[in-house]
Amino acid sequence: MNTPPQPAQPVRASDLVGCRYRLRQRREHPDVPELPDALLRQPQMDAVRATVFEMLPVKRALGDGRRKAFTRIDIDPGAGVDARVVETRLALKRRAHLITNAALEGTIDGVPTLAEADVLVRTDQGYAPVIISNHRVAREHPHEEIQMVPTGRIGLGAPITVRAKGRHHTVDGYRLAMAYLLLGDLADGRGGVIGQDRTRAYIVDPSRYTQPLRDALAVEIPDEPKRMKQCASCRFWPLCKPRLEELDDISLLLPGGRGDVWRERGLHTVQSLIDSGPAEPAALARAWRAGIPVLRREQMADVPRADVEIDIDMEAYLDQGAYLWGAFDGETYHPFVTWEEVGDAAEEANFNAFWSWLMARRRAAHEAGQTFRAYCYAAGGENHWLRSSARRFASVDADEVAEFIASDEWVDVFALVRRSLVGTDGLGLKVLGPVVGFEWEDDDVDGERSVALRRAGRLGDDAAREMLLRYNEDDCRATRAVRDFLDAGAQGVPEFGAV
Ligand code: SF4
Repeated sequence: MNTPPQPAQPVRASDLVGCRYRLRQRREHPDVPELPDALLRQPQMDAVRATVFEMLPVKRALGDGRRKAFTRIDIDPGAGVDARVVETRLALKRRAHLITNAALEGTIDGVPTLAEADVLVRTDQGYAPVIISNHRVAREHPHEEIQMVPTGRIGLGAPITVRAKGRHHTVDGYRLAMAYLLLGDLADGRGGVIGQDRTRAYIVDPSRYTQPLRDALAVEIPDEPKRMKQCASCRFWPLCKPRLEELDDISLLLPGGRGDVWRERGLHTVQSLIDSGPAEPAALARAWRAGIPVLRREQMADVPRADVEIDIDMEAYLDQGAYLWGAFDGETYHPFVTWEEVGDAAEEANFNAFWSWLMARRRAAHEAGQTFRAYCYAAGGENHWLRSSARRFASVDADEVAEFIASDEWVDVFALVRRSLVGTDGLGLKVLGPVVGFEWEDDDVDGERSVALRRAGRLGDDAAREMLLRYNEDDCRATRAVRDFLDAGAQGVPEFGAV
């Protein structure tokens, strides 16, 4: 049965993306504390907001009509939601020009909602919500145009047209649309998003997102949990896990939407998949039940080898640039790294150092009559940054990069693994490490941690730099270990038919 919405726990935009069951857990178990990682993220977000608020105007500048009043009200972010809602109402009543840390509460289509608008901006037509997002919300573009207001001129300056293309992120759209709807008659009709470039607020039309928001609010909250990727970092996992196990829910084996195809056929449990599913999924379910992480296909892919073999792993900073290209040649690890800002001369120099080294190794092999191959695990990221470097940096020979990517000297080990093995929890490098007997020295560096380490590394933290390089080296070595293991016939991994 659907629990009626609790007035004390209104729906926020973040409740409408990812796991929808989380809202039920949040309402039923409000005392479950945040996990340490989430608590660590909070100061980062607070710092971002503080940076933006610092840039916002506090008075009119010369040319803005300095005599005219300008009222900025900064609501205390620590005041608690109820107090912020009241203070926002009062600030709107006072017709403040800028209101920071605003909170708006009300119902949308009968659903109690809470919109946290980082800034409300008074305009000639009313109020426009502006949100601060950690996404990249626009990119430079040669032909597209978009309007923006410099952050320091919000509430004072007219929009400027720039050549850029907006990028939509679902949760940002929901946040804006919610604030826009809750402003009601006071809404100006426009909204703003400040993304990774904190100096610009791009102007968007929030009415574009109101229907998707209404559709999302109309979706019933599920009665039961379903395992998803985000369960791994969710504070309610200790509550959801036993329930999923009790249900023997198919998402334990096939998280997210992967189990939907079987649910549609009436197979909701792991056992039903074992009993009634086709041979391959049933074998996988049996393996999962038996604690076997990986199975071997009957026909395994050949692993191309060479006289000179290099394993490569790249690390990028968000979508701003690649700062580390690591290469392991079977004996020595060669890191090409920059701790400077990416996207500019330092990244170009670092990429050129890596690329010249790689091409020199290839040339030397050819000249010695040897075969050469470079390997990586899941080439998507590496190919993206190889192509992006060739496109962005004039000093890089783009034809040479394109020829290398298309050649059989560049091998994606993940593609070979997928043709040879099937995993009950995917076939990521981290899953295969223990199967092939490889151990990472630091086994808790995930994507988010590596971003934090890189930040610390940029500030000169030697321990953070060393850890990042060690982690990258281990990824290179693990790639080699996996292909050696495959090449040797994946000994010890049970075949499909044997489970
Ligand atoms: S643990 Fe998973 S299913 Fe449960 S609330 Fe969190 S994300 Fe949703």
